[in-house]
Amino acid sequence: MTTSYPVSSSRPFDYPRPMSALHCGKVSLEALARRYGTPLYVYSADQIVERLAMFQRALAGRDYLVCYAVKANSALAILKLLAARGAGFDIVSGGELERVLAAAPEAAGRVVFSGVGKTAAEIDLALEAGILEFNVESEPELELLARRAQKLKRKARFALRVNPDVFAETHPYISTGLREHKFGIDIRRAPAIYKSAARHRWLEAHGASVHIGSQIRSAEPFGSAIERVSRLARLLAREGIVLKAIDAGGGLGIDYHSGEFDAEAHVRGYASAIETALGDFEGRLLLEPGRFIVAQAGALLARVLHVKRNGKKTFVVVDAAMNDLIRPALYQAHHEIVPVCWRPGRERVVDVVGPVCETGDFFARDRKLAPVEPGDLLALLDAGAYGMAQSSNYNTRPRAAEALVEGGKARLIRRRETMADLLAPEMI
Ligand SMILES: *Cc1c(COP(=O)(O)O)cnc(C)c1O
Repeated sequence: MTTSYPVSSSRPFDYPRPMSALHCGKVSLEALARRYGTPLYVYSADQIVERLAMFQRALAGRDYLVCYAVKANSALAILKLLAARGAGFDIVSGGELERVLAAAPEAAGRVVFSGVGKTAAEIDLALEAGILEFNVESEPELELLARRAQKLKRKARFALRVNPDVFAETHPYISTGLREHKFGIDIRRAPAIYKSAARHRWLEAHGASVHIGSQIRSAEPFGSAIERVSRLARLLAREGIVLKAIDAGGGLGIDYHSGEFDAEAHVRGYASAIETALGDFEGRLLLEPGRFIVAQAGALLARVLHVKRNGKKTFVVVDAAMNDLIRPALYQAHHEIVPVCWRPGRERVVDVVGPVCETGDFFARDRKLAPVEPGDLLALLDAGAYGMAQSSNYNTRPRAAEALVEGGKARLIRRRETMADLLAPEMI
């Protein structure tokens, strides 16, 4: 007797029949793992495109731009896929801008640049590329932007990223909307800053932005934040500063546990809370979703190396580790783990761990798992966001390969790193 693993229909990874092998669309994951090796990230292009389309449907009828947050998953192939369907991008470094320019140079005018520590070189790069908007997080940054814009004779469209002092229920490391956080400018200071910037020849007060955190599951805090921003926009309009855009940031969360998840309903609820809060604001709405677009489109495949017993505990040691997917170690995050091929027998309570020399190198603790043997393939689900993007070479482990499944076909979008790649920058 085997308990069936509920892999919900909202995920692109599924078993075509009970007791069959896990697939991504028509593509067998076992076949992919044989072809490209493990650890391997696999993404569904269809799912990524469908998630973007959910935002597009929810906002149809108003002026909007979905700026995908590149930091969630910055694979060039994914950026290109999204750009081709009209997405813009939210970047947080000059490196991410270089990625957008490499994957979809035509999208440069749809880029917003966030982040608390932009350098002069990064600002110059973005001014030259003609990005849509700089989301400015402090007065010294605005002064630097003004100096660079003047020097390059390029007008800088800016938005102040205001801190709305809204609390959003999420992990403390990814909550950003409180006054005590390092992000944004106190919303009470914003009007004075807009007024003084309005006098600068090379600055254009283009918008106002907020980003209150990540993996936020309820629409309500987004509504509260946007209410405060639209109040600011009304106040500025009365002073003659008419903003063209309000940027609501990213942060919409997903369900990392198994079971049904109505993604479309979530996006609709989120969009409607924001639209209500915008009131009579007639400008453009910018959104910066990252996780919601890519998280559930991705899985990390890992081979079982050993099944090891220490007293009462059973450890399933796999060939992926915290350097490939750090979310469990960093945020105590939950990822569903399912066997790619079934073995009959009873579930056991196990820890799923990687080979890295850290006790924090685990993917699951005290988790019920179907029987597995060395050589079996496991899939860590919902790993498309903040997985590969946060990977490292810790323990001198080459980074994983990445494959994209599109229209029933899979292709490699990043080859596995080699030892030569790792050693190349070093000198003895
Ligand atoms: C990280 C980040 C996002 C994306 O957040 P998600 O939770 O992945 O949607 C959007 N905007 C800014 C400014 C960010 O820092």
